[in-house]
Amino acid sequence: MQYRIDPKSGNKVSALGLGCMRFPGYQVGRPDVASARRIISRALERGVNYLDTAYLYPGNEEVVGAVLDELGARESVFLATKLPHASCKRAEDFDRFFDEQLRRLRTDHIDYYLIHNVTSPSQWERVCALGIEDWIARQKRSGRIRQIGFSFHGSAGDFPVMLDAFAWDFCQVQYNYANEYYQAGTAGVLSAAERGLAVFVMEPLLGGRLAGKLPTEAFKVFEQAGDAELKSPVDWALAWVWSHPQITMLLSGMAAPEQVDQNVRVANLANPGCMDEKRMRAIARVQKIFEAANRVPCTGCNYCMPCPRGINIPGCFSAYNASFAHGWFTGVQQYFTASAIRTSAPKLVSNCVHCGACTRHCPQGIDIPARLQDVGRRLTPGPVGAVLKAMASKGNADKGNR
Ligand code: SF4
Ligand code: SF4
Repeated sequence: MQYRIDPKSGNKVSALGLGCMRFPGYQVGRPDVASARRIISRALERGVNYLDTAYLYPGNEEVVGAVLDELGARESVFLATKLPHASCKRAEDFDRFFDEQLRRLRTDHIDYYLIHNVTSPSQWERVCALGIEDWIARQKRSGRIRQIGFSFHGSAGDFPVMLDAFAWDFCQVQYNYANEYYQAGTAGVLSAAERGLAVFVMEPLLGGRLAGKLPTEAFKVFEQAGDAELKSPVDWALAWVWSHPQITMLLSGMAAPEQVDQNVRVANLANPGCMDEKRMRAIARVQKIFEAANRVPCTGCNYCMPCPRGINIPGCFSAYNASFAHGWFTGVQQYFTASAIRTSAPKLVSNCVHCGACTRHCPQGIDIPARLQDVGRRLTPGPVGAVLKAMASKGNADKGNR
């Protein structure tokens, strides 16, 4: 395993961290414990020493805590979790959430604690007014929190404001070859590193959109490059991130032990500066192809779910993007599956009542109801849409009769 030094703490952190959010079963809020155990075990065997979870990943902290306990591995890893700041209404809430997290994770301290999903400095100012700065100082003095940071999904302009808003130890940003100028972006990575912070990366594969969901043409570019070391789109995407010396660690949401093996192999060869001119030419071509098909920047994080009208929001956006990346018919097939079209109560995008419950949770700032209309227009045009809408109404009426 390649290890990199956290410039603030001096910790030797594995270049590859395990993002626990995407364990099998996470989409229904019940992580599959046996799968999680296999993935965590393999990751630890292969030298991964950083695990990332969050209060808001349903059932996730409990599973991570139980598996680490069972393996007797708590002290051999850096454990990261996150504060659900939007749910903190008074100062006591900081302790309430944190104590619960320690219980769930079966530990007495958190190595890397993050303010979760900051999209604007005003969110930080709100919790400052509740006294979070003093609370953090107390936790650090007592050793319950070792390193403090924030995960960020806001604008490039707001990122330096957040960097300077507190004496952070680290930050976590969305970064990959398709997001050089999106959210914190390359400029943000450089700014954080200049300030001496450890920079941790999330979404290196954009929720799989730079892996198996990559446009067919982009697959071909990587194949034609014939690289001796980078064999798959995943290898290319991870190596691109690790080629930046400013990056301390990259989180990958590995969903099977084989994915751990694949990513560790790349981690061992992707050193700073590993992307030579030939590789960067291939990346530049893929960036163009991806950009043309990237109609909705959904990463499938599920933060917007559940929708009270039962709409599978990430599934609909995945189908919509697939219709540009892999052809219209593929998108329609995926949309039919995502909206349970063959059941008695399909959940079509036309079910949306524009309540807005989803949009405020989206870290990508997507206007979800508006973009769902785009999905409907493209994937259920004209008479097809009318027939499906009638089926959905009938299904919902039948359901109400039971
Ligand atoms: S706005 Fe539409 S998609 Fe979003 S939660 Fe409300 S009904 Fe569901
Ligand atoms: S629409 Fe936004 S919140 Fe919902 S899954 Fe996609 S990126 Fe996540």
